Amino acid sequence: MKTKEQWFEVQEITDDILAIDDNGDNTIYLVRGSKRALLIDTGWGIGDLKELISELTELPIVVVNTHGHPDHVGGAYQFDNVHITKADAKLLKGCFERESREWALEKAQRGPYPPQFDVEGWLEADYNNLIFIKDGHQFDLGDKNIEVIALPSHSAGSICLLDKEDKALFTGDAIVEGHIWLQLGSSKSLNTFLAGLKKIKSRIDEFDMVLPAHRRTPLEADIVDELIIGIEGVLAGEISGKEHRTFAGDGLLYEFDKTAIVYDQEGREKSK
Ligand SMILES: [Zn+2]
Ligand SMILES: [Zn+2]
Repeated sequence: MKTKEQWFEVQEITDDILAIDDNGDNTIYLVRGSKRALLIDTGWGIGDLKELISELTELPIVVVNTHGHPDHVGGAYQFDNVHITKADAKLLKGCFERESREWALEKAQRGPYPPQFDVEGWLEADYNNLIFIKDGHQFDLGDKNIEVIALPSHSAGSICLLDKEDKALFTGDAIVEGHIWLQLGSSKSLNTFLAGLKKIKSRIDEFDMVLPAHRRTPLEADIVDELIIGIEGVLAGEISGKEHRTFAGDGLLYEFDKTAIVYDQEGREKSK
């Protein structure tokens, strides 16, 4: 058994931004404004996130998912509703099918679980309370607005969230240090990703740090440049990846300096 304190680890990024490590696997963020707080992703939902959040703020909570994968939407059932793009709604719903939940406990999140964790309840949880958001949507937290920037890439409905006030860009799994998975059935092509990265680059004066959903955080903003230059090189045929296998599908791996992409350019182009 792990206590809530052992399951989650809270790191203060700024006065208003907290990074919540979900048992060493993924990072959830809480952005506190003057009137509301925005919870960015919900982790696996094994730890009692709702209880933790109530200890971190008394503000009303708005929940948003960066994309529809199980390590980020698994805890949605602990909240009344969550915001997500329409393009990733199917992915989210799929995460609540019993088979996916069983897979998750077997492969991704083995115990010891926190004492409050109800395994059967978690396996049976269903979730449909989705509010759809689009590119440009603003979450009004009172003294600051957090803007949705669509970045179809790792999944079709992946988004970034721009907090101009704190000069922070939350990127989910679309921009992380280490491997960015673009070989998945739900992923978009490198061309699409590149177009989105250029849109992000045009806003680079509005953020100093990148806050991803896995591994090291915060990252420096120049990770965006590294990805643009690298993907342009791959698309121009100047460089190409080597074969790479993952449990979620095979692709070509190309490692840049801090980051890397696993992609399946041919397959993606065909399916576009
Ligand atoms: Zn993901
Ligand atoms: Zn993830």
